[in-house]
Amino acid sequence: MQTTDKLMEYIEHSPSPYHAVHSAAALLEEAGFTRLEECAPWALEGGRGYYATRNQSSLIAFRLPSGAPEGWRMTAAHSDSPTFRVKNDLLEGDKRYLRLAVEGYGGMNCASWLDRPLTVAGRAVVRTGEGVEARLVYLDQDLLTIPSLAIHMQRDVNKGHDYNAQRDMQPLYALAGSPSLTGLTAEALGVDEGDILSADLVLCPRQRPVYLGPERELFQAPRIDDLGCAYAALEGLLTAGGSGRFGQIYCLFDNEEVGSGTRQGALSTFLPDVLARVGEVLGLSVQDGRRALANSLLLSADNGHAVHPSFPEKADPANRVYPNGGVVVKIAASQQYTTTGLTAGLFRAICQRAAVPVQVFANRADEPGGSTLGRLLAQQVSVPMVDVGMAQLAMHAAVETAGSRDPEYLARACAAFYQAEFTLTADGIYQF
Ligand code: ZN
Repeated sequence: MQTTDKLMEYIEHSPSPYHAVHSAAALLEEAGFTRLEECAPWALEGGRGYYATRNQSSLIAFRLPSGAPEGWRMTAAHSDSPTFRVKNDLLEGDKRYLRLAVEGYGGMNCASWLDRPLTVAGRAVVRTGEGVEARLVYLDQDLLTIPSLAIHMQRDVNKGHDYNAQRDMQPLYALAGSPSLTGLTAEALGVDEGDILSADLVLCPRQRPVYLGPERELFQAPRIDDLGCAYAALEGLLTAGGSGRFGQIYCLFDNEEVGSGTRQGALSTFLPDVLARVGEVLGLSVQDGRRALANSLLLSADNGHAVHPSFPEKADPANRVYPNGGVVVKIAASQQYTTTGLTAGLFRAICQRAAVPVQVFANRADEPGGSTLGRLLAQQVSVPMVDVGMAQLAMHAAVETAGSRDPEYLARACAAFYQAEFTLTADGIYQF
């Protein structure tokens, strides 16, 4: 459970994508990785680890081999989760209520956000003596709630409800006369309210991660999708240490929940930009760089749906996954997942050597299923990939549930993967 304890801490420290990146950066720094700025020149040394961030909400870390990399072992997860984004101004209800004006971010389960303590997290842009600076914000208090309408006023509420984000999902902030959200933010940052120029704030549930079950077999927390994979892959990178001939890359991308097509999303040029700069600094020829990419593998790490105890028929009868069943490998004929028979076989061989259990997920043949970042990243950097993750319940609810042993399985699989010395000797043939 040690990995899960640490994951819970990571989730608590990561109430927004900005915080998820900041928390990952802190762990990388602790492990000796050096921060690089995209706006500054890069000097790189073989055998060392580095990382860069973009928009403060995406991060790419890499560890170089001592010589020219013969290939890359890469993972990619996402830093964002479905939530509600705070607009600029407060909504005044009937003059007695003040509400935050929000809009939906990603596909959330609305009902799960009602009637629970919430607060806001993200970043605020502050005017400083030298210019402007974006600073992390987390208002560490039970601040908001989205009250449901009493059953007496909607007798059919338990027969299903059509949630309208503008009508139903605006959080109650205060009674009229209370300090503004900008005022609270200024106080938290120790700056004048007039110096706050702008902000990127999202709602976050206040529930702390907890274990469930007599043997603590399960755990529940906000944002398990996809901070579970984000943390497990990072732990894998940090415990793996350096690999002799291969470089290691860890990606954490924002905006997966809204299609990834942003400057910092999986569809952006962030990863190609990093690879190009690394290649140039290391003096790799175009041919060397292309050979290394062909000899690479990327794990696209995002969670999969565990069988639901009340709705077992929603899962495929054969290719179904359960909490604590091990690392999920996802396959889809539609190619919404990047897994091929070859990459799944290679990944399975790596997991077998590390004694990590693997389970296979496929959608029912009559269900289109979801999609994730790997397929989009492949449009920017075309390396062999496999879609993996943890089995979880209640995906995209305000709090989600997963197996307590799975984070460790995934972290061990990632560590073994980062160290794996497989070499592509011909198309379709790996040696290791
Ligand atoms: Zn996800």
